[in-house]
Amino acid sequence: MRAIIFDFFGTLTDPSAELLRKETIQATAAVLGVEPERFWSAMASSFPQRIVGAYGGTRDTLRAVARQCGTDPDDERLDRAVATHHAGAERVRTPRPGVLAILDHLRAEGYLLGLISDCSSELYEAWPETDYASRIDAPVFSWREGHRKPDPRLYATAAARLGVPAAECWFVGDGGSREHHGARRAGMRPVLVTNAAYPGAGGLRTDPDSYLPDHRIDEVDDLIRLLGSSHDNK
Ligand SMILES: [Mg+2]
Repeated sequence: MRAIIFDFFGTLTDPSAELLRKETIQATAAVLGVEPERFWSAMASSFPQRIVGAYGGTRDTLRAVARQCGTDPDDERLDRAVATHHAGAERVRTPRPGVLAILDHLRAEGYLLGLISDCSSELYEAWPETDYASRIDAPVFSWREGHRKPDPRLYATAAARLGVPAAECWFVGDGGSREHHGARRAGMRPVLVTNAAYPGAGGLRTDPDSYLPDHRIDEVDDLIRLLGSSHDNK
């Protein structure tokens, strides 16, 4: 096994930061001048389209969703809303404690690291400025690719960009978006991060996976032990 492909939210990010998602979206609503609960609902219901890029970038997305809510923000208001929205998204993607050092360790061990994230425009736009970017060899974003998990094309793209056959890739995720089903079908070796130390985190997953991988770990740092004990880990 030469590569490890990670899910992003709830896997590399701090699962407890998911609890901030609603309040950050509502902070954006306040700047746009849209009723917060209505805006939250509109953002939630547009999620499937937003993560495959159908709304465009963050600025176009916020304008479109505000209009759906009956408000047409002017440019100045929209500028402030984009800034507020990006600041909120940064809070939601706070790294899981210790995860950056784990990524450094895995790279030092010689693994190539990839990412497959079902994400909207915010993560794609901010990625190069994040602490994750320099540690991930091949990030694959649903927003950019126009497909969401468990679409086989995302897994094939990640493996191809790493230059590694899918059969030599671990896929590590907290089990949203039927991602392990997709990883197994792609020929990768799935690992579930249970987030057992984060009560309620499982309830925040979108479209949870019914397939339960053989390999299960509570924390991402347990991955180091799992890889070390894997017999064909060459
Ligand atoms: Mg996840």
